[in-house]
Amino acid sequence: MSTTEDLFKNIISHAKEYGFIFQSSEIYDGLSAVYDYGQNGAELKKNIRDYWWKSMVQMNENIVGIDAAIFMHPTTWKASGHVDAFNDPLVDNKDSKKRYRADVLIEDHVAKIEGKINKEVEKAKTRFGDSFDEQQYRSTNARVMEYQQKIDAINTRFKAALEANDLNEVRQIILDLEIVCPISGTRNWTEVRQFNLMFSTQVGSVSEEASTIYLRPETAQGIFVNFLNVQKTGRMKIPFGIAQTGKAFRNEIVARQFIFRMREFEQMEMQFFIKPGTEMEWYHHWKETRMKWHRALGFPDGKHRFHDHLKLAHYANAACDIEFEFPFGFKELEGIHSRTDFDLGNHEKFSGKKLQYFDPELNQSYVPYVVETSIGLDRMFLAVLSQAYAEEKLDDGTDRVVLRIPPMLAPIKCAILPLTKKDGLPEKAREIMDRLKFDHACMYEEKDSIGKRYRRMDAIGTPLCITVDHETLTDNSVTLRDRDTMQQERVPIDRVEQLVMDKVDMRKALRALGN
Ligand code: ATP
Repeated sequence: MSTTEDLFKNIISHAKEYGFIFQSSEIYDGLSAVYDYGQNGAELKKNIRDYWWKSMVQMNENIVGIDAAIFMHPTTWKASGHVDAFNDPLVDNKDSKKRYRADVLIEDHVAKIEGKINKEVEKAKTRFGDSFDEQQYRSTNARVMEYQQKIDAINTRFKAALEANDLNEVRQIILDLEIVCPISGTRNWTEVRQFNLMFSTQVGSVSEEASTIYLRPETAQGIFVNFLNVQKTGRMKIPFGIAQTGKAFRNEIVARQFIFRMREFEQMEMQFFIKPGTEMEWYHHWKETRMKWHRALGFPDGKHRFHDHLKLAHYANAACDIEFEFPFGFKELEGIHSRTDFDLGNHEKFSGKKLQYFDPELNQSYVPYVVETSIGLDRMFLAVLSQAYAEEKLDDGTDRVVLRIPPMLAPIKCAILPLTKKDGLPEKAREIMDRLKFDHACMYEEKDSIGKRYRRMDAIGTPLCITVDHETLTDNSVTLRDRDTMQQERVPIDRVEQLVMDKVDMRKALRALGN
């Protein structure tokens, strides 16, 4: 087994062991691709949501937030195109009886070739040292060019097949590329079929009256149907945005990779309403803005990249993903889509209600265009968790597992630890806790040795530990221990509040976004 696979397994078991993520209904052996967030997971998730909400809604005068219902009138999903076109092409391997997304099989194959290119580049980098010009190498090296041509040919053929909705051709590509099932190792594939991803249920108590409704597969439509409500009541002027976070549901065919692909998940979406014709300008603006949001978390360079969509969704005229390097490779974390007037235009048609904006500058009404940013909260959680997780060997020969979560997102911001359970130390520690708890999620712990308590705090990513000892009682100072450096510093109690605030302050990151 490769070490990255091991690493990912360790992250998953760490998430369970330390109360971040549990499998849903575990006592009944779980439910596939559904997860629950534990006491630390719920805090981390909330903090990521807050970071998103503040940067979107609080920091932008022209963006407001709503909270629409999960259930919507069934015609919504006719108008949005989801009833007819929200499908994944699926294919089964007849030997292993495993089901795959045909597009993912092909994309994984392309990723393997990309991996070969990257290996060549890495080799050349070490060979040539400082004088290495990566761009030139990529465009002149014969082997790299050959790989790249292969990728381009597959992509062109695949794009044409998808656009023509030619599922036989998609199957043929899988056969021609000699893609095998990772389980059975065979190429014994069924036909490729389309599979609708929406969950449906019945509303109404008597079956004759009942009508089929869907669990929303995206939060965006709750924004579109409320476009005029918000525009009128908020007296919003174009350009303006409506944001929301909330649950979405998709009957994913291939549910694996932990919380990367879930059947119930949470999205954070923002629809930005603009004048038709200005969409490319705003598309680039939001691409840049969203990348900045990710970069402000301080993850190493090279962990994020843009990926333009090969095949545009039924609603889009430009679209890309922000990909993150998860332990299993670069994968989509967020989508930025120029959706034109597709959604509002269709809701006008299907509802018979005008969904237009009167532009006082132009003195005319129009259906606005939309640029959307859409990120999965759970995927973002996985990005933060996998980036934060580190297994370290310390100078004294011991090991520690630490979550280097950006302090502003950490579930617990500081732990207050009396060195012993007696001599008035717990009371002093509680006093400090009582000052800090109004601003921060704090934890009080008096059990076990101080070393063990530090390790437990490292394992859940607590940025600061405050230790109260006997000296504290005489000189009113405490030991402040930093999670990342493990350095300990003696500080007066009066400075603690400010030091904790400096460490975990979200305002720094928000300022860096430059709103
Ligand atoms: P994918 O290609 O991975 O299925 P998508 O292109 O269908 O994703 P979008 O419809 O653009 O995804 O949804 C926006 C965001 O919602 C994604 O970037 C992702 O972060 C998140 N998301 C989508 N599906 C899931 C899922 N099943 N589980 C968790 N997050 C999801």
